[in-house]
Amino acid sequence: MDDVEFTGGCQCGAIRYVLSQRPSNVHVCHCRMCQKAVGGPFAVICPVLKPAFRLTRGNLSFFMSSGVGRRGFCSACGTPLTFDYPDGDDIGVLVGTLDDPNQAPPENQYGNESRVSWYPSLTNVPGDHPTYADDPEMRLRISSTNRQHPDHDTYIWPPAECR
Ligand SMILES: [Zn+2]
Ligand SMILES: [Zn+2]
Repeated sequence: MDDVEFTGGCQCGAIRYVLSQRPSNVHVCHCRMCQKAVGGPFAVICPVLKPAFRLTRGNLSFFMSSGVGRRGFCSACGTPLTFDYPDGDDIGVLVGTLDDPNQAPPENQYGNESRVSWYPSLTNVPGDHPTYADDPEMRLRISSTNRQHPDHDTYIWPPAECR
């Protein structure tokens, strides 16, 4: 295992995980299944060997998207978190669930048969607006009632004395 620890979790914090290995072959997947599974134009999948993926809080729920692949998600908040083949050696976590998605830049792309036509122009779409920069009241309403789990562990289970 690498001397790294990447942490992440779902939006509500019911599920938290740690990766004890740097993901390899981080990839954008444009396939239609990934589009549906993440509710976005593509998924960014960060594979690690299964022993390097450890849940530190909660349990994944699964949808078998085919007879061979499954999608792990949080049943409390709906955040998609993983993709894996139960018989396979690795598990892919979705980059947006990492506490720091900058840690895992993509190196490869798959599923190009379903790639949205506007993908190549995505970075040229006009607009460079921070969230609700033009609406401080709305920004305050959101930040003062924010139920999203912070981008760091708030506790590790089991406690140190029980490990
Ligand atoms: Zn959740
Ligand atoms: Zn895919």
